[in-house]
This record gives sequence, structure tokens and C-alpha cells, in this order.
Amino acid sequence: MNKLLADDELTGNLLKAAQYLKRFRSSPVAHRIAGEAVPSSETFDNLDPNDNSVLCKVASGGVAEIDRAARAAEEAFQVWKAVPGEKRRGLLHKIADTIEARAEEIALVESVDSGQAIRYMSKAALRGAENFRFYADKAPGASDGLSMPTETHLNYTVRHPIGPVGVITPWNTPFMLSTWKIAPALAAGCTIVHKPAEWSPLSAVILSEIMSEVFEGAGLPKGIVNLVHGFGESAGKALTEHPSIKAIAFVGESVTGSHIMAQGAPTLKRVHFELGGKNPVIVFDDADLDRARDAVLFMIYSLNGQRCTSSSRALVQRSIYDKFAEELKARVEKIRVGHPLDPATEIGPLIHARHVEKVLSYAEHARNDGAEIATGGTRALDGKGNFVCPTLFTGAANSMRIAQEEIFGPVLTVIPFEDEADALRIANDVRYGLAAYIWTRDVGRAHRIAQGVEAGMVWVNSENVRHLPTPFGGVKASGIGRDGGDYAFEIYMEQKNIAIGLDKHRAPKIGV
Ligand code: NAD
Repeated sequence: MNKLLADDELTGNLLKAAQYLKRFRSSPVAHRIAGEAVPSSETFDNLDPNDNSVLCKVASGGVAEIDRAARAAEEAFQVWKAVPGEKRRGLLHKIADTIEARAEEIALVESVDSGQAIRYMSKAALRGAENFRFYADKAPGASDGLSMPTETHLNYTVRHPIGPVGVITPWNTPFMLSTWKIAPALAAGCTIVHKPAEWSPLSAVILSEIMSEVFEGAGLPKGIVNLVHGFGESAGKALTEHPSIKAIAFVGESVTGSHIMAQGAPTLKRVHFELGGKNPVIVFDDADLDRARDAVLFMIYSLNGQRCTSSSRALVQRSIYDKFAEELKARVEKIRVGHPLDPATEIGPLIHARHVEKVLSYAEHARNDGAEIATGGTRALDGKGNFVCPTLFTGAANSMRIAQEEIFGPVLTVIPFEDEADALRIANDVRYGLAAYIWTRDVGRAHRIAQGVEAGMVWVNSENVRHLPTPFGGVKASGIGRDGGDYAFEIYMEQKNIAIGLDKHRAPKIGV
């Protein structure tokens, strides 16, 4: 892009973002419970990842606010569950319309709040609208079941919404991820209490506003969607423990998933988890290496590497390893780190100073364990904000911490392998099992690896391109349950079988 044009666009984006953020700065951001703005006596600082200044103050909820929101959701559920699917369809499309109309605002606010480059955030806002449209069209058939007649009975199944659902989301691409959960839950007839991440809570405010306006405009109860801000240990924990909440849809770290499972056990919560990953991208020497290189780079260095499906382990066949790693390094060194609102920026600031420390600590682990830091491993720019240099570790073994642990930053570990069996062994030798990527021109090999790799999703000769009807989720420590298509309804709905005894059916006689 022409430099002057890019500078102009950055200035324009800064001015527009300042306008959109004004309202968040003027007074502490409140919860939204049953359509009302509800403040808390306690607040926390939401920091700007660009320079760690205070972006705004946010209400910090706990047991009392969650209880109020869960009760509102329970009351609203009695009405929402009976709203016909056709009507739900229209309302969810209206939500999508408003998301599209406010896409610029959502993208700019999200970009500043989360540090993600604006070039990706505008797409995330529109993807959120698509999620609502997709599930809007599924709403009319959401309760449909199967009919299974026998000689003596007519069996048929129906599906009912499970009840109020707690949605707990992380700080990476929070708008889009929230819509992944909320859209199918609403289509199913569930009501919502949403607890967004404390490090990027702002786009959830806009989403709850949009949804509340649509429901209120239709004369429906205001408690269909509720938003409570706060920390995981307080607001999040209270949500997972509340008896009115029937299921928890959670996206976040695997260890948090374990806590949530334990917290939800006394009330037998249904859980749906989308957790961490340490996803292998396996590059064979017969692959289209140009395309493979682009895909490897995109999947780890876009979205600041803060992406659950990132290709964080590149397993490269020994015969092409040196050249491939050298070419990766040359490209990584050209990646542009900068202000998230600059259209030229490819990597913005990481979400939080604590996260920067975590990500950079892996340079130390790499050194200690004997890997090579081919490039990066340090802070970038002036060191004021949360900027880190895109990092490439080479000469790594899969047993090293850099290959076993989810770093969740712009950090790629490259590991050599010998043959197919070796590639599969290394790919599966981690606790995670979210996504895997395979690059080869040999269809038989692609199929064998795809069958053997322990992952919920496999892409062959492609980066992560998501088709909404397909199942999305992980195995092992990467998750429980699936998003996408009708799969999501398995979380938000209960099956009921109804058996009608036909005339010729009679129970066995006793006491005759
Ligand atoms: P996190 O687990 O720290 O936090 C996620 C959410 O859980 C936040 O809202 C937090 O407040 C809340 N929370 C924390 N402790 C809690 C508790 N005890 N009870 C209830 N809620 C609690 O995760 P994060 O750091 O925000 O997000 C990054 C993680 O999310 C990475 O591991 C990433 O892989 C994962 N992720 C997975 C997917 C997927 O689809 N599999 C998608 C995006 C992100």
C-alpha cells in the first residue's frame, strides 16, 4: 500500500475509533441485565494494549450480579422458548442486519481493545453477522426430531431448548467467538448470561446492546440476553455454579476448562468446551511448497498468533527442512509489527503485559532446551506497548517446552521429521488435539495422516477455512463438543422421545 495513503487511513481510523470509544471512557462500563445498565461498586481497569494506558473502567461483577442475570434469563426463558422458530428466525436476521450496519464501529473498538490488526477485525465483525444469519435459518427446524415407527409403537423425538445458558468467552477475537455461541443458543430457544473476558470486554457491550434492542423492539422480555463483566474467579465462577444455568459454553484455556467442570459438577452442568491447541502443520517434500509456506505463515502470524487453531508446530520433512526454514525466516523478518489501526500492520500489540512476559519466556525455554532462535524472541518497537517480534524457533525437538505448551503468540517452532510414521508420531505427541494441517500432493498419504492424526479438524493443502455447517472442536485437552451446523444444538437442546402405543399393543398381564 502507498505509504501516504496508509498514513491517512491510520489517522482516519484513530479519529473514528476515538469517537466510538468516547462513551466507554465517560463512565465505568456497566453490566446489562434484563435490558438495564447495572453498575457495580467495584470496577477494574481495561488497558489499551498499544501503550498500557487505561482505556476505560469496567464494572466487576460477582455472585450478586450473576444471580440477578441468571434469574432474568430464567424468567425470559419461559417466553423465549415458546416463540415460534419462524419468528426467532426473523429476529436473528435483524441482529445480523444491525451487526452489519455497525461493523465499522465493532471492528475499530475490537481492534483497539484487543490489539488485533484492523485488517483482520473488519472481517471478524462481518463473520459474526454471518453466524447469526446461519443460525437464524436453522431456528424454524431446531425442534424437529426423528420419527421411528415400530409394529406396536410410533416413536418420535422432539428437541427442547435446555434453558438459560452461561457463555464464557476469551480475549482473542471475542466478538466473533461470542456470536459462535450466542447465535445457535438463541436459535435453539435458550436465553443467555454472557461473561466476556476481562482483557477485551468492549465488543460484548455492543453485541448485547444490539440484541437487547431487537428483542425489546419485538416486545419480548429484556432478559433474553444478559451481560455480566468481571474476573473468571468471581463472575465466571459464580456463573458456572448457578443452579438456574443449565449449560456452560466456554472458550478458553484447557486448565480453565478443568476448573469449570469442577465448579459445575454440584449442579451437573452440561459443558461445551473449546480449549487450547498445539496444532501441527505437516509439510512433506512432495508438497506445493510455495502454497504451504504462505499457509504456515498465515496460520501462526495472523491475529497476533493468538488463535486457537494456529499452526504453532511446523513439522517439516528432513529433506527440505533447511531450505524451508530459511525461507520462513526471510519472510518472518519482513512481517510488519505496528499500531493495530494501521492498515499496513500485520501484527499488533499482544493483549496484555502479562501475556507478553509469558510469550517471551519461551525464548528462554528455547535457549535452555537447545533450540535455535532463528529470529525474534524479543520485544518490538519502543517497548512501551505489548509489541513482540514475530519469532521463529528452529532445530527444535518435540519434547521441548516450545513444542509441547501453547504459547498463544506469534511464535513458530519448526521440527524436522523423517517419514510418514515419524510425522504422525510427532504430531500426536502432545496433550492437545484441536486442528492439524497436512501438505502433500499424495492423496493416499494425506488420507492416511488425516485418519491417524489426533485432532478434531484436519485441513489438507489448506489453512483454516471454516465452512459453518461443518463441526468445529477438538479432542484430548482441546475440547468437548462441537460448534457448527446442527452439532451446536446438541449442547443447547435436550432430546425427548415420545412413544405412542398403537391399538395392537397391550402390556403383559399380571394379577389375572
Ligand atoms: P482463559 O481460560 O484464561 O479465560 C477465558 C474466559 O474464562 C475468560 O472470560 C475468563 O474470565 C474466564 N475464566 C477464567 N477462570 C474461570 C473460572 N474459574 N471459572 C469461570 N470462568 C473463568 O483463556 P484466555 O486466556 O482468555 O483465552 C485464550 C485461550 O482460549 C487459549 O488457550 C486458546 O487456545 C483458547 N481458545 C480456544 C478456542 C477454540 O475454539 N478451541 C478458540 C479461541 C480461544
